[in-house]
Amino acid sequence: MTAPRFRAVLDTMPAYTPGKVVVGPDGRSFKLSSNESPFGPLPSVREAIAAAAAEMHLYPDPASVTLTEALAERFAVPCEHVALGAGSVTLAQQLFETVGEPGAEVMYAWRSFEAYPVLADLSGATSVKVSLKDEAHDLDAMAEAITDATRMIFVCNPNNPTGTVKRTAELVEFLDRVPDDVLVILDEAYREYVRDEDVPDGLALYRDRPNVAVLRTFSKAYGLAGLRVGYLIGHEPVVAAARKTMVPFAINRIAQAAAVASLKAEDELLERVETVVKERARVREALIAQGWTIPPTEANFVWMRLGDRSPAFAEFCAGYGVAVRPFGAEGVRISIGDREANDAFLAAAEAFGVE
Ligand SMILES: *Cc1c(COP(=O)(O)O)cnc(C)c1O
Repeated sequence: MTAPRFRAVLDTMPAYTPGKVVVGPDGRSFKLSSNESPFGPLPSVREAIAAAAAEMHLYPDPASVTLTEALAERFAVPCEHVALGAGSVTLAQQLFETVGEPGAEVMYAWRSFEAYPVLADLSGATSVKVSLKDEAHDLDAMAEAITDATRMIFVCNPNNPTGTVKRTAELVEFLDRVPDDVLVILDEAYREYVRDEDVPDGLALYRDRPNVAVLRTFSKAYGLAGLRVGYLIGHEPVVAAARKTMVPFAINRIAQAAAVASLKAEDELLERVETVVKERARVREALIAQGWTIPPTEANFVWMRLGDRSPAFAEFCAGYGVAVRPFGAEGVRISIGDREANDAFLAAAEAFGVE
């Protein structure tokens, strides 16, 4: 018997491993491994979801007109500057599809968001990974790594999993060095958590730069990770290309309704974000007081570069009922949860010990 003939690239890709649920000896279980919001959907968003559920026999609006218009209004951009995807990961995949082919290079920092290499490989493009410097993007090295084959560059700001940011001056200098025919995607999945005023809002940078676009999501600060909605704001040719690579009806009816309702409840949601921002400061300060080195973070997680102690640290936290996310022998990313979860994590970190 011969096996079906799959693309050779699949042999190089890791098989999917589902996240484990960990339970501590006292029965408590905290998930600080996926950067989710500790809050459930707001009552007004739940109502919108329930109303949309009653129309589930109908296909969703394939162009998501209501949500597109709501985002265009919210950010004062034309509708032609807004593309949607079933989560920003899917939108990132759409973008890789727009440029990926043999011979095309796509660039990103490493370590950064773990989806980039997978999506690049699937698209047929070649990944150019530029090492972080001091846990942050090395934009000089990235500018120098641009070749005639470079089609697209992802800049994850704040960076997942390190939480570090690039500020306006260095980002503008970098964008000025990128040729006009290279697409730059500013992945701002954590934008709502940024408090450093020198970190630019990508929407201010994209306006007079046709090759720059901003990727955002309802999954993190808006707490809709389970519904899968992300959006891209960019100039018309970029948005048109991203829309062409979308699977028809990818954004379901409930997701569209919930995202629209969330934009209406923005003030309430951003209050919740503020709670997470305060907890982030508390967790980082407590870790530093325990003796750990923690880079400043503008996202809803902290990064501990523990090297080859990383897997053991994650195992140890699991013993306290706290799931965290180790990245090989590099470091561990811990999402900021509610106070109880954060305290459980801090207790684990203290017991594990700096040495
Ligand atoms: C979480 C995350 C996303 C997106 O998630 P979706 O749920 O697919 O919207 C995108 N980029 C980065 C860097 C992330 O960390």
